[in-house]
Amino acid sequence: MKGLMMDYQLTLQPILQRGYRLFPKKEIASKFGDTMHRYTYADFYGRVGQLANALTKLGVNKGDRIGTFAWNSYRHLELYFGVPCMGAVVHTLNLRLPPDQLAYIVNHAEDQIIFVDNSLVPLLERVAGELKTVKHYVIMGDVAETSLPNTLSYEDLIGAESADFAWPQLDENDAAGMCYTSGTTGNPKGALYSHRAIFLHTMGLSLTDTAGLSERDVVMPVVPMFHAMAWGLPFAATYLGSKLVFPGAHMQPQDLAGLIQDERVTLAAGVPSLWFGLQTLLEQGGYDTSSVRAMIVGGSAAPRSMIEGFEKNFGIPILHAWGMTEMTPLGTVANLKSYMDEWPDDERYAVRAKQGIAVPGVELRGIDENGDEIPWDGKTMGELQVRGPWIIRAYYQDERSENAFMNGWFRTGDVVTIDPEGYVQIVDRTKDLVKSGGEWISTVDLENAIMAHPDVLEASVIAVPHPKWVERPLAIVVTRPDLDTPLEKEAIYAMLSAEFAKWQLPDDIVFIDEIPKTSVGKFDKKVLRAQFQDYKLPTA
Ligand code: AMP
Repeated sequence: MKGLMMDYQLTLQPILQRGYRLFPKKEIASKFGDTMHRYTYADFYGRVGQLANALTKLGVNKGDRIGTFAWNSYRHLELYFGVPCMGAVVHTLNLRLPPDQLAYIVNHAEDQIIFVDNSLVPLLERVAGELKTVKHYVIMGDVAETSLPNTLSYEDLIGAESADFAWPQLDENDAAGMCYTSGTTGNPKGALYSHRAIFLHTMGLSLTDTAGLSERDVVMPVVPMFHAMAWGLPFAATYLGSKLVFPGAHMQPQDLAGLIQDERVTLAAGVPSLWFGLQTLLEQGGYDTSSVRAMIVGGSAAPRSMIEGFEKNFGIPILHAWGMTEMTPLGTVANLKSYMDEWPDDERYAVRAKQGIAVPGVELRGIDENGDEIPWDGKTMGELQVRGPWIIRAYYQDERSENAFMNGWFRTGDVVTIDPEGYVQIVDRTKDLVKSGGEWISTVDLENAIMAHPDVLEASVIAVPHPKWVERPLAIVVTRPDLDTPLEKEAIYAMLSAEFAKWQLPDDIVFIDEIPKTSVGKFDKKVLRAQFQDYKLPTA
């Protein structure tokens, strides 16, 4: 039977309206160099209206893709709402992509306008000649000399407009946002999000049993706004009226610690590599981080040592989460179930270091090589597959979709085990597992164990070709800079031997200065594999 309920469309418009109507006094703070820009949700709403009027005058039509090339700041937030709420699609461009991939994405999405931070103009100038569909570049901040064609100033553009805008009636299945995946070899793949997906994800993210966002939170998305819509936090914060803190281009540990202290941040979110540096800084003392109630860590595995370290040393609980660009992005969170509070410390940390249970809204299963569902025994490995209302049905105009979806499920490419409590543990990306003889070795397990050594800052494990075993693991380690005596390989082997069988141990350990990072700050195994492809293992 149809028509039982009101025809209420789940779009970003009610999210925007709620932030403005109920929380006009709440603040949005953005860091620019040594100064903070501050305004309220009321100011924000007025400027979003001005932006929507300006876009209309520029001839933006429903469904047009509008690119952003920007750090996390209040203007980027205005685009997050102004563009989709007037009917177009906000396409966040990853500013750390190599030029050829950036050009590919803009051309593939057919972006009509690109809004760019003034500090990032030189990066965009390098590819502008190859961008086929862009009619205007709108520069945010002071405009200097540039070779970009057809430039406009953001402040001039919106300053000329009225704050009143007649928001059009939208369908919840209309496109609202767009993001390309960063981890793939070959060209990035596009995920186009509907209003409905973002609306439902906003509700899902806000539940107490997921991240439990509230009006009382001071939310600092350190995860870039071009990485899977900053994990949905800007939408949820606006809906609930949480104070927002944007770090801008300032992501150094000192900047983050300073913002946490001065703005009294309660909830921060980002990939693990960001927090390693913060951990080292906080150990030196001098910062008050007592306001933090949770730090969401995802994008790569949060090592257990990090989860324990932040909690025991600084009283900062880490909430480990797993998600994907294709999933708007939240999939699982590792909250404890109530009865686990009674469990011994060791077991509780072991649960929290897993990627967690499916959030309400997401269903998941593991599928083995024969296409059968794996048992939830915490041992059997399979590919993680997911389905739910905020997971894309196909990549945007991309024939690679064919292999990525199966009977209504999305194949994540992550190899997992699922334990009897339903907690998922990522063993590896399919392509990162080490195939040694007939056995698989998890690089994630080894990395987490190595990073538990107090002298280790970063560690990555990759497969290296081996004449007898096909592949064997090689560990690449970065030690802390302040060590009195250098860390020896033997110390790492001694520690690993307590936990792993001999055949699982890396065949060698090399020390380097820094692990290369991907455009969203994850350890870049592609680069490491290329760097060490001819590495001669002592066992080979
Ligand atoms: P992206 O969409 O670029 O963020 O990449 C998604 C991929 O990141 C997933 O398929 C996982 O391989 C990885 N990932 C995300 N969160 C986690 C996590 N908490 N632990 C381990 N891997 C993760």
